[in-house]
Amino acid sequence: MSEDRLRRTLAAGEILFHQGQQGHAAYVIESGAIEIFSERDDVRQVIAQLGNNDIFGEMALLGDAVRSASAAALEPTQLLVVTHEHLNERLLGADPMTRHLLRTVVLRCREMLAWMRASGAARVPPERMGALADADEVESTDRELAFRRLRTEQELEAALERGEFQLYFQPIVRLSDRKVAGYEALIRWFKPGHGMVPPSEFIPVAEASSLINRIGLWILETAFDSLMKMDAAAGAREEPIFVTVNLSARQLTDPELLPALSMQVERLKGRNCRIKLEVTESLMIGNVVEVQLFIAHCRDLGVHVLLDDFGTGYCSLSYLHLFEVHTMKLDRSFVRGMAVSDASEKVVRGVTRMAHDLGLNVVVEGVERLEEADQAAALGIDYVQGYFYGRPAPLADALKKLVG
Ligand code: C2E
Ligand code: CA
Ligand code: CA
Repeated sequence: MSEDRLRRTLAAGEILFHQGQQGHAAYVIESGAIEIFSERDDVRQVIAQLGNNDIFGEMALLGDAVRSASAAALEPTQLLVVTHEHLNERLLGADPMTRHLLRTVVLRCREMLAWMRASGAARVPPERMGALADADEVESTDRELAFRRLRTEQELEAALERGEFQLYFQPIVRLSDRKVAGYEALIRWFKPGHGMVPPSEFIPVAEASSLINRIGLWILETAFDSLMKMDAAAGAREEPIFVTVNLSARQLTDPELLPALSMQVERLKGRNCRIKLEVTESLMIGNVVEVQLFIAHCRDLGVHVLLDDFGTGYCSLSYLHLFEVHTMKLDRSFVRGMAVSDASEKVVRGVTRMAHDLGLNVVVEGVERLEEADQAAALGIDYVQGYFYGRPAPLADALKKLVG
């Protein structure tokens, strides 16, 4: 969606929509002021004057209703556009109870508006105004949060179109020879005027809508492009170099993911390198059947699946046999733990042994010191990842390391 479909700029006095027109969007005021008014017999009757963060036009969004009033800018005004499409997507993602509540509220509001119009009460009666203002106060934090999220979603959409995302790569080192065996691809957003935004700030927003699917496809394609460049830089190797890509829960049900993966794998034919997909423990537990099917499809394509963040969620060893994963990545809390307690060290040793018995490789992340890498090696862990061997960095850095 282009940015002008997401934003509207109005000059002072400009009419946004007229009463009786079909409505296809609601609006949030980013700056400026809007007047909502009705026109009867050419007399303009002001219903409300709205300012920053106010939402309006939402009634037409939740059905096929026409605009019940007109809207015009009182001064130069900047609006965020909330489309029908956008709202429907959110409604489909909401739980049935929320959907039901929303529909009921909308219905009640419609009835009230119809009643007000029939009784000639164009304005909200003064005694109701107080109640509305109180509710407004209670809701203002929610509203602020919701709009900030909406703004980020729209910025992310534009960021994808403008190429503001970049993949960084963090080395994964094989402990047997302490050589780089592969890289984890980690997304970064370079937001103009803000610098780098960490994924923890925008991935959850993208995950809340289907945006993660489009961003995910970009990540996949870029990871394969980068892997091929790494393969060329690495020259002849016995062990294939790999790149791991993080997957979000929603991507598992994206019908475009597997065809895209299959197409990209085709491009690797004849090369000595591979892609692995990182799926978190909590995602697996929440979607057992989907994940099993997904892993089976990946296996048919020759793509390995790696269990990420082991130890942060349910940490139940009993379910591991349900999934044909190839590698298990221990969360960095294990590294911190084994440095300070014998008991933690025993847990790591036990978990590693069990993973090996099940035919899995073991990686531990968050290794920041040489002693931690040495300790991991002594415990039989196969690979380490962490700031000690390298922070996530642009592709050029990885290529330099592979050549050097
Ligand atoms: P994750 O998959 O567990 O990624 C590992 C995180 O640990 C990365 O943070 C990495 O920079 C950080 N890290 C690596 N070594 C060390 C270390 O030695 N010490 C410490 N303290 N931290 C270390 P990052 O890049 O900020 O990513 C955070 C999370 O965002 C990731 O956690 C992952 O869940 C998500 N994420 C990042 N990139 C992607 C992506 O491309 N797709 C998806 N779906 N999620 C992503
Ligand atoms: Ca990961
Ligand atoms: Ca992890």
